[in-house]
Amino acid sequence: GAAKLVQLQKLESLGQLTGGIAHDFNNLLMAVLSSLSLLRKRIPEDARAERLLANAVQGAERGVSLTQRMLAFARRQSLAPSAVDVPALVTGMTDLLRRSIGPQIAIRTHFAKGTPPALVDPNQLELALVNLAVNARDAMPDGGVLTVGVDAVEGGNDDRPEGRFVRVCLSDTGSGMDAETLARAVEPFFTTKGVGKGTGLGLAMVYGLAEQSNGRLTLRSTPGEGTNAEILLPVAEAALAEALPPAPAIATASG
Ligand code: ADP
Repeated sequence: GAAKLVQLQKLESLGQLTGGIAHDFNNLLMAVLSSLSLLRKRIPEDARAERLLANAVQGAERGVSLTQRMLAFARRQSLAPSAVDVPALVTGMTDLLRRSIGPQIAIRTHFAKGTPPALVDPNQLELALVNLAVNARDAMPDGGVLTVGVDAVEGGNDDRPEGRFVRVCLSDTGSGMDAETLARAVEPFFTTKGVGKGTGLGLAMVYGLAEQSNGRLTLRSTPGEGTNAEILLPVAEAALAEALPPAPAIATASG
């Protein structure tokens, strides 16, 4: 409807704005990091100086990670997509997820058999899933269940884009969001977590990755019941077949 269109246009211009800022900040921070690394070679061994340098490096690296998420939202992140076995990727990051959410939350996984590979940058997908898991954790301070589901779906209905997609669903049994929060959740810098706690860049990054991957992020939430984040990613073969030029009509013998 019209409301959604307005919302998307707002995100579009926010993306242009944040993309420009993030790009400049990223360059500045890279220069800071490289100077710090040169400085480290020049200072004599000194535990206190080492500690101060390490603090500075850590701060700059945190800044880089934030600007990366802004770039992801603005769809200016350079991605390295490949055919990714998503259930295997999720299985491979179980320890990481466990560490991200703590011991009081149970993790359940549902992987549909024969799910085809998705065309996505695997490192960015991992980052996106960690962002979602951390949100789920924050929504379940007294514990709960985090469910990760992976299957394949056909697009073209239920407001989904055309095509065949790998669907990754991450749902929690947490606090949920009211309509107002849900409407603003993917906006960069929108956070309800308070200063120093939330950056408001987690969902912005997930949204940007989904869009840049020619997929889709959909959030559904019920206050008091929980939240479901659905990421659609194009099936790798289908996406590659579309991107490749048509095969030559006559095969030529070689070798
Ligand atoms: P941050 O986590 O730094 O606040 P995000 O962009 O990841 O930034 O999320 C924005 C806001 O959306 C959160 O502050 C919170 O209010 C809401 N939110 C996101 N995920 C969930 C969730 N799983 N359950 C409830 N609220 C959520």
